[in-house]
Amino acid sequence: MILGAVGLLVVIVALVLAIVRGLSAGHAESSRAGLSGRAPAPSDIPPPDAPQHEGGAPDWPIRVDSAARIEPRAGRERCSRCGAEVRVGDHEARLVAGRRLRLVQLHCRRCGGEQALWFALAEPLPEA
Ligand SMILES: [Zn+2]
Repeated sequence: MILGAVGLLVVIVALVLAIVRGLSAGHAESSRAGLSGRAPAPSDIPPPDAPQHEGGAPDWPIRVDSAARIEPRAGRERCSRCGAEVRVGDHEARLVAGRRLRLVQLHCRRCGGEQALWFALAEPLPEA
């Protein structure tokens, strides 16, 4: 009877150990999977000082397929301060990190605020 009780105790301890090991192993597994599964893409979490819209920075330019589209596109922007229409100012060609960009100055028609808008010209297709 005593041996039976000891045997039962050993079985219970073994079971508990197995469950604890299984739980910790499963936990480690799921947290690892969670880390890789939930890791947001860098673009999902912009740094606090990142521009809030396309064209606001040289590393987030508005893509256009020809320089002729820059002005009409820039003219559709709104003032980032007051939301009024803007006047399109000077264009500047800039080379940033090896990319040819156009920097366009926008002037707000209402509050006079200025903002920069960055464009990237699509690479010309190679001649066939
Ligand atoms: Zn304004």
